[in-house]
Amino acid sequence: MTRPWNFSAGPSALPLEVLEQAAREMTNWQGSGMSVMEMSHRGKHFTQIRDEAVADLRELLHVPENFEILFMQGGATAENAIVPMNLINRNQSGKADYVLSGIWSNKSWKEAQRYGDIHIAGSSGEASVVAGREQAPWTWFPAPHTWNLRTDAAYLHFCANETIGGVEFMEWPDMAALGAPDVPLVVDVSSNFLSRSIDFSKVGMVYAGAQKNAGPAGVTVVVVRKDLIGHALPVCPSAFDYANVAEAGSMFNTPPTYAIYIAGLVFKWLKRQGGIQAIEAENIRKAEALYGFLDTSDFYVSTVHPSVRSRMNVPFFLKNESLNAEFLAQAESRGLLQLKGHKSVGGMRASIYNAVPFEGVQALISFLQEFERQHG
Ligand SMILES: *Cc1c(COP(=O)(O)O)cnc(C)c1O
Repeated sequence: MTRPWNFSAGPSALPLEVLEQAAREMTNWQGSGMSVMEMSHRGKHFTQIRDEAVADLRELLHVPENFEILFMQGGATAENAIVPMNLINRNQSGKADYVLSGIWSNKSWKEAQRYGDIHIAGSSGEASVVAGREQAPWTWFPAPHTWNLRTDAAYLHFCANETIGGVEFMEWPDMAALGAPDVPLVVDVSSNFLSRSIDFSKVGMVYAGAQKNAGPAGVTVVVVRKDLIGHALPVCPSAFDYANVAEAGSMFNTPPTYAIYIAGLVFKWLKRQGGIQAIEAENIRKAEALYGFLDTSDFYVSTVHPSVRSRMNVPFFLKNESLNAEFLAQAESRGLLQLKGHKSVGGMRASIYNAVPFEGVQALISFLQEFERQHG
């Protein structure tokens, strides 16, 4: 039987090649006689796994040498606290600005309030007319020129891809051009990490829980500019102080070794696909095919503004919502899994991360067409 296509938002599909390699190496990693799960994190085997993962990630994303690559724990949710604890005092201002564009950025903003003077720089939390189109709250992204910035903020935070709402912020701003040259961008890239290139000249830090597009749950990737490290609040737990984690090569305490190993296999798989440019082109092709179909249909609707439609997470609705249960049951019987939308949004959501190939998107589109023919 062929493997079903998995459209889960996270934890989500991993490349089959990666899973098969992990299976082959499960009980005996490269002749070591041990599973990766059974190795000392400080031994030569795991040290090699960690070093290759860091080097491959640096190569894939062209991460400059003045940035540290850290593997941490606690997911992006813990980073919502770890970020302000580490950064908000870097210039003694105790201030940070947040842009709100959906559920994840709202959670970040809420958590940060425990650590300093937190201000909303922009929000899509109200209905708005965007380029002539009426948009409901959280279906658009506030344009950078409208942001209300504080030039002495320690950083500006936004979420690059709202996994639940399906809103992806495509053009990250140059803060100097916005009159705030000393405010570094801090970006939650959990759900579009490794789907596209990142211009690190514009960024102070990015972070991602791995389980969306980079690996299994349990490891958080942090890429942070070195000059932002070393200013943690006294209250910051030692294990969450970027200075300690960087100094110890992500081994201040026992790291999530197996999750790092699998993420490392995903990085090698990406290199074999031709790197980030190649996978980004493929992701554009997939998203264009799916949104292109939705736009021609009167049976399904996509509500996110076209300028910020996520390439990774595609929420859509059946106009006749009484058909939802039947739609999901039929999809599952066709081997199209986990298409149910998040409970806060409803409808459907197809997450088409790196590990879902064009063929999987085509299978989904064929099913959408057929279901529409049956019920339209
Ligand atoms: C999933 C997700 C989170 C939360 O990640 P956890 O690993 O569950 O803490 C935060 N931000 C974004 C954009 C996400 O997609």
